Amino acid sequence: SAKRKGGDLFSFYDAENQTLLERQLTFESEIVSAIENNQFCAFFQAQVDADGKLCGAEALIRWNHPERGLVPPNEFISVAEQFGLIQKLQDIVLEDMCKLINLLEKKQALTEGFRLSINISHSQFRSLNFEQMLCDILKKHKVSASKIILEITESMLALDIEQTINQMSAIARLGFKFSIDDFGTGYSSLSNLHLYPVEELKIDKSFIDRITDEGGLSIVETIISLAKNLNMNIVAEGVENQEQIALLKARDLNVMQGYYFSKPLPMEDYIEWHCAHTK
Ligand code: C2E
Ligand code: MG
Ligand code: MG
Ligand code: MG
Repeated sequence: SAKRKGGDLFSFYDAENQTLLERQLTFESEIVSAIENNQFCAFFQAQVDADGKLCGAEALIRWNHPERGLVPPNEFISVAEQFGLIQKLQDIVLEDMCKLINLLEKKQALTEGFRLSINISHSQFRSLNFEQMLCDILKKHKVSASKIILEITESMLALDIEQTINQMSAIARLGFKFSIDDFGTGYSSLSNLHLYPVEELKIDKSFIDRITDEGGLSIVETIISLAKNLNMNIVAEGVENQEQIALLKARDLNVMQGYYFSKPLPMEDYIEWHCAHTK
């Protein structure tokens, strides 16, 4: 789980001589100074449609640590959230995302249906100024909300259903779309799914990994037909080989994302990849 992975980062520190609290505080101050030193940025991973056409990308945060190299988000997101630092990290990802959209537009490589997805953490989603924060950044960069997909997880839907629907509806009225990330791993109540303004389900990589087994395939088929019945788009995460692609295409899946097409790339490399696949 994220917590356990967050724990892995603490093992970077001298576990012998520090208490957990001391290590957490060291980590917290390290994140704070890493933010000041511009060590965080967004990478971007392409999404392609069934014809192999580029149709979107997901922004994924990275910590470019001077000694440890690229630190993946599972090692710091949950701790950053615990210490109330997630907003600052999210601002960086949102800013990078807007910069990317404007750079692509300048290069006339921003196709009509292209969408950028961004992961939203639990506490941000719950924060009172979430909408305002989104609007402020988009306004600053003159980017349209219709270009952005907000990825949330099933557990965020489970809390106060009515209040959550109201909040999501208000955000959707601004033009943003919602996607449910890691779908199938969070035990959400299927009976309520149609009540939320959600446009997309992302099938978790763990199911795509098992799609070549009979049992795994029937789970993926079930999620695809659920999405179709609810009029939602469907994205397969973690697509790594042609066998998976053939099975997904035969089941009329809309969008694929995975190392087979491209790994998450730094912005400059992503732009190059994007332009090579847009012309
Ligand atoms: P996620 O949103 O489900 O992102 C997909 C993860 O799968 C990414 O890991 C991506 O690099 C990885 N991936 C994609 N295709 C493949 C593949 O073919 N094979 C394999 N082995 N992996 C693949 P990453 O970048 O390490 O991110 C992990 C998680 O951290 C994300 O899962 C998301 O929940 C969270 N995260 C990332 N960026 C942000 C952010 O800006 N804000 C927040 N709140 N969470 C973030
Ligand atoms: Mg995601
Ligand atoms: Mg996911
Ligand atoms: Mg995830």
